[in-house]
Amino acid sequence: MSGSYLSLIFESSSISGGKAASWRDETGALIEAGLHVCFPYHRHLLSLLGELGAGSGIKWADAALRYVRTDGDVAELRFPRLPRPLNGAFAIARHRHLSLCDRLSALFGAVEATLSSHGWRSRYESITFAQWAQRRGLSKALVASVFEPMIGGLTFLRSDEVSARAMLDYIVAVGGSTDAYRVGQFRGGTAQVVIEPLVADLVARGGRIRTGCAVDSLVIDGGRATGVRLQDGNQVRADVVIVAVPSHQLGRLMPAALQHNPAIRSVARLQAVPVASVLVRFDRLLGGPPGLRLSPGCVFNTWADMAELLPELAGSGRSVLQLVVAPLRCPSLLDDAALTARVIADVRRILPAARAARVEKTVVTRTPHSVHAAIPGAEQLRPDVHIGVPGLLLAGDHVCTGHNPNMESAVISGLRAANLAIEAAR
Ligand SMILES: Cc1cc2nc3c(=O)[nH]c(=O)nc-3n(C[C@H](O)[C@H](O)[C@H](O)COP(=O)(O)OP(=O)(O)OC[C@H]3O[C@@H](n4cnc5c(N)ncnc54)[C@H](O)[C@@H]3O)c2cc1C
Repeated sequence: MSGSYLSLIFESSSISGGKAASWRDETGALIEAGLHVCFPYHRHLLSLLGELGAGSGIKWADAALRYVRTDGDVAELRFPRLPRPLNGAFAIARHRHLSLCDRLSALFGAVEATLSSHGWRSRYESITFAQWAQRRGLSKALVASVFEPMIGGLTFLRSDEVSARAMLDYIVAVGGSTDAYRVGQFRGGTAQVVIEPLVADLVARGGRIRTGCAVDSLVIDGGRATGVRLQDGNQVRADVVIVAVPSHQLGRLMPAALQHNPAIRSVARLQAVPVASVLVRFDRLLGGPPGLRLSPGCVFNTWADMAELLPELAGSGRSVLQLVVAPLRCPSLLDDAALTARVIADVRRILPAARAARVEKTVVTRTPHSVHAAIPGAEQLRPDVHIGVPGLLLAGDHVCTGHNPNMESAVISGLRAANLAIEAAR
């Protein structure tokens, strides 16, 4: 916010960025809360980064998703310069890991999905993607080899958990055009490319961020939000309070007077997905296809070699893999050593060069409550920015924005809340 308004942000963590945070450890290595990528359909995020002069921090790949299977066998889902649904149909038709029957089984569903309207897709909020795929005749091998790692990477769920609507929305968003399939990676980590420019801009406009400062509860007076009570006991007054905490934490900040608010009660029913991000540094370069990689049948879904992205790793002769494990529900993976061992075993299975390579460093970052699970029925539980309480606005990826929970949804809700706050304060 700018002009005559003072924005004061309270952040409970010692660093800004939330789930998109990244930081340097004691050795200077970049650690990310999770591997983050963006797509051209993240229009609000990209326009914000453009305004902040941070757009050049994104490295855009070509219009292809790359699947890596056992023994380094790579298949591309490459989207030709054709209008949809032809681009998707051709991409699947040329995927090397699929049989002719698998490829043909995709045709009807792919055409129907990519030409669909938002209203049509909403009808599939009550069933899972696996159920939709079965009804449309998609083969099991097609779902397992192509969609399963994609679903895991985009929603952190499995095909028999995610709502068909959520996945079809993703297919349409990233399949809108051939260029829309391009994956953008952040050259210096999300902190450097996304979070630091945002924080610098806020401070330059007179705003302040107090990190390591948790809010205890919202203060309500006469039915209106009038400020927040901090965990250190202080109380801060505000004309407008924007609560931008994850869905699983919203309820506990609300005073008794708001516990029966229908929106607050609905949000409490959203379930957050547990995920982990595993960093593995090897003593040599492992090769593999460029950009974001997807691997079916592995403990991780999506992964990348940070040696391609981070200037400090150029010339180091080392691969630093960042791998996302989701959903992380298996009890045997709750131990970091066990999780790392499974990840390394799978990396060695799919990348032959990793078999003789020595592991120099591993870091596990767990996010027990990542984004809310986009399971059937979850969409109706997402709140609006305004929930009918004067002086109170909500923001965050769980807010209903027409987008699945991700950075684009967080930015859209934040912009809406900021605009409403400015209007309210006038
Ligand atoms: C492993 C992983 C990979 C991901 N990859 C992608 C990706 O590739 N692309 C993409 O678009 N999205 C991705 N996401 C999702 C993306 O990170 C989130 O959608 C986005 O960061 C959500 O932002 P948010 O502001 O809504 O919530 P958060 O990032 O969770 O921010 C909420 C903030 O509120 C703070 N807070 C909580 N309680 C309090 C309190 N009481 N007082 C003060 N502060 C409090 C928290 O510390 C946190 O900083 C990924 C997420 C994870 C976990």
